[in-house]
Amino acid sequence: MKAVQYRTVGAAPEVVALPDPEPGPGQVLIKVTAAGACHSDIGLMSLPAERFRFPLPMTLGHEGAGTVAALGDGVTGFAEGDAVALYAPWGCGSCPQCARGSENYCPHSARLGIHPPGVGAPGAMAEYLLVDDARHLIPLGDLDPVRTVSFTDAALTPYHAIKRSLPRLAPGSTAVVIGAGGLGHVAIQLLRTLSSARVIALDVTEEKLELAREVGAHDVVLSNQDAARRIRELTGGLGAEAVFDFVGARATAETSAQAVAIQGEIAMVGIAGGTLPVGIGAVPYGASAVAPYWGTLPELFEVLELARSGAVDIHVETFGIDEAPLAYERLHAGKINGRAVILPHG
Ligand code: NAD
Ligand code: ZN
Ligand code: ZN
Repeated sequence: MKAVQYRTVGAAPEVVALPDPEPGPGQVLIKVTAAGACHSDIGLMSLPAERFRFPLPMTLGHEGAGTVAALGDGVTGFAEGDAVALYAPWGCGSCPQCARGSENYCPHSARLGIHPPGVGAPGAMAEYLLVDDARHLIPLGDLDPVRTVSFTDAALTPYHAIKRSLPRLAPGSTAVVIGAGGLGHVAIQLLRTLSSARVIALDVTEEKLELAREVGAHDVVLSNQDAARRIRELTGGLGAEAVFDFVGARATAETSAQAVAIQGEIAMVGIAGGTLPVGIGAVPYGASAVAPYWGTLPELFEVLELARSGAVDIHVETFGIDEAPLAYERLHAGKINGRAVILPHG
């Protein structure tokens, strides 16, 4: 089969030929219809050798959807041909967090060497994907896998971050979305669907701000040193009850700290190396900051309902598997509007 692999630290990903995987007991083999390209993959591929902690080569792709191609011994609940989406933040499966469906917060996975496919384990950007356990598959039904695949991260991650903030987002409140890319353009739609907050979106190009407006942002602001002042101006000096930073750079962390309201909350979702000092004088009184990671299995069922109802629609740019390196190049350059999705079988 063809697979998109990160093979050498610092080098671009490559399309290679590998043997077709076969499911062992309890495993499920998926014929991949669609796999999303996330900026975290670029984050991973930008790490220096001493901080890269997974064995290479590594097949990329932690957003996956496809059909069941074969079932390992003992697997029940699925049949060959079923359309499924992948829940990729794999945990140990036997601790309280995992029992709650919060495998993204399993405290044992790292120690046990359990990694998400595409982030340590062989990923979905290949013609076939081996899934360790049927509990990591969600039936897609008649949802279009190409338009739906990125709900497994680009929608699930902002949904998880936004859901905990909903009590703050009463009528009259403001939510700020920094970075209207793959995750951010979904966050705007989620905020519009789930809350009555006014949504202000920030990005660095007119094209991205245009997309933000198109998907429902009330106001858009160019992300620069003046952005926090502009947000305060738009909120009558009060700032935003919730700030969702989908960049996570030093500059956006500063904007977040200056734009958040008294008792507001900043969610640092992006992993561009920025950190946020929290303390009296550094953020407004009572403000808090969180670093949410991915989302839970029940939340994935919930966002897929939003796909089904049409309340949230991911803008997708598709690429064949041979074009995957080009997709990453374009994502790195900020040239993807919405999400880049790879179609391994054309
Ligand atoms: P993306 O490239 O699709 O979107 C990023 C957007 O931010 C782009 O539109 C870009 O123009 C914009 N941007 C860049 N610099 C900016 C700045 N200074 N101010 C405002 N906007 C700026 O990336 P993505 O796939 O949506 O991922 C977003 C971030 O979230 C990445 O850092 C990724 O690694 C991270 N991520 C975190 C989690 C988690 O669980 N915490 C999950 C998925 C992705
Ligand atoms: Zn991701
Ligand atoms: Zn666990």
